[in-house]
Amino acid sequence: MAKLKTLSTDEHYHLRESGLADETVWGPKKEHPLYKLVTNFKSEVKTYYYWGQECRCCYCSSELPKHGRSFDAEHILDKSTYRQFMFDLNNFGVACPVCNTHKSKKNVLTSGYNAGLAALPTDPGDYLIVHPHLDEWSHYLMVDGDGLIKSIKPDGKGKDTIDICGIEAVNFTKLAVKFSLEHREDAYKLMCHLVTKKPSKKKTAELFLLLDRLAENTPQAQAAVRGLRDLLTP
Ligand SMILES: [Zn+2]
Repeated sequence: MAKLKTLSTDEHYHLRESGLADETVWGPKKEHPLYKLVTNFKSEVKTYYYWGQECRCCYCSSELPKHGRSFDAEHILDKSTYRQFMFDLNNFGVACPVCNTHKSKKNVLTSGYNAGLAALPTDPGDYLIVHPHLDEWSHYLMVDGDGLIKSIKPDGKGKDTIDICGIEAVNFTKLAVKFSLEHREDAYKLMCHLVTKKPSKKKTAELFLLLDRLAENTPQAQAAVRGLRDLLTP
């Protein structure tokens, strides 16, 4: 994104300076003097990247409904650690709330946290995750026949994007609907627990037994559990 339409160069400069001085400027209350400028900025950035990303989340590629609340203006380098880029037009994409929340303030740079960074890194190799502007999503990630997002290679950017952005949680909603309606919420929680809590071998086996029970009499769900078992218990 090269420039803004609703803010002058001076206003944009003012926002950058204000962001650098005060982290809370990103979410100002209505009575805050910068409220209007920040609101216009967010709206413009969200609209630009929504269409630029073809209405999809920049990390998990889920379709985003055309409604301001259904997706977030995503700071690629998080706005708390890197206040200097809080209003940098090239530090944005749009992301679904799942990816945006999971990613939060996690480090996404191959060099590690570097709060004092003077300029936005522009080499794809500088980023651990698939970068919305510097990388081609399909070079690292894919959607399989079940609609699940998978890394093309077992490690590297695709895998790191899945881990850092919590994309398995997106996948699990798709797997959970393969269970009977009464078991979907429980199955979803068990699957999330298996991946996020990294339980012991014994606990993992117990959780899979519970999943097996929820999948009983539902062949689609049994296949989903088999796939997950292959993935998590090599
Ligand atoms: Zn997403």
